[in-house]
Amino acid sequence: FFRPLEKIAAVIETYPRGIAGFQRYLDLLSTEPEITDAPGAKDAPDLKGRIEFDDVHFAYEGAKAVLHDISVTVEPGQTVALVGPSGAGKSTLMALVPRFYEPTQGEIRIDGIPLRDMTLDSLRRQVGHVSQDVFLFGGTLRENVAYGRLDATEEEILDAIEHAQLRPVLEAMPNGLDTVVGERGVMLSGGQRQRVAIARVFLRNPPILLLDEATSALDRGTEREVQAALSRLAVGRTTLIIAHRLNTIQHADRILVMEKGRIVESGNHEDLMTRQAAYYALVG
Ligand code: ADP
Ligand code: MG
Repeated sequence: FFRPLEKIAAVIETYPRGIAGFQRYLDLLSTEPEITDAPGAKDAPDLKGRIEFDDVHFAYEGAKAVLHDISVTVEPGQTVALVGPSGAGKSTLMALVPRFYEPTQGEIRIDGIPLRDMTLDSLRRQVGHVSQDVFLFGGTLRENVAYGRLDATEEEILDAIEHAQLRPVLEAMPNGLDTVVGERGVMLSGGQRQRVAIARVFLRNPPILLLDEATSALDRGTEREVQAALSRLAVGRTTLIIAHRLNTIQHADRILVMEKGRIVESGNHEDLMTRQAAYYALVG
């Protein structure tokens, strides 16, 4: 999800190498087709979160197709896990939901409304993400949690912190919510940063949740805490989750196994174990 940020970071890192290098990176940035509101797009209503991928195909600009024939419907409140080898297209499929990219063929609808017919703002406000690279800016814990909900009351912020299991972190902070975090203040660990992202999503309360679960950098205790907070976050929301540890998705309503840009298997854990095919092989 943070590819644009990665690119900005690349620009910043490269800048001292001179104007020529800088210009090259600007050119690189501009090759990304810009997604904007389609003509006639309207603000989406409050969504329930029924997501339909209808014969979706996708290719990155100037590259060969990385998603083929994706047709799948996720019912409101369901948790659907995407699994499969690296490069299978899991992150790409997820990135289509907030319309970071546009399918090259087919259509994605939420509650029956094509994504193209919604303003980006009204769509993205209703899609929360938690990914491996959590972006904290050099402000206070309060600002970092309230990011995207600047009108939040202190009570709401504390409630989100509680839900994200960040209370012990808050209690250890020298100035409570007003403690500066990030590079200019108290450094937070990877697990703590992820929980800040979780608190943000609790506060925004979107009906749709995208989780790119990466807990590899976390120790076991922290992983369990983050996992517990994520499970609570998913309750009542349509959730797409990219699982890197298969044991965390055994209770998903549905598991989609992806290979080379296609969904090759779909079912719950028991179904797929019984089939003894692709998922069974991944579980090992
Ligand atoms: P996964 O999440 O399953 O590991 P990805 O969706 O990240 O897979 O990648 C699917 C394919 O798309 C890979 O071949 C990858 O190299 C390619 N890809 C991913 N992002 C980009 C991009 N921004 N530009 C071009 N190709 C990309
Ligand atoms: Mg990925």
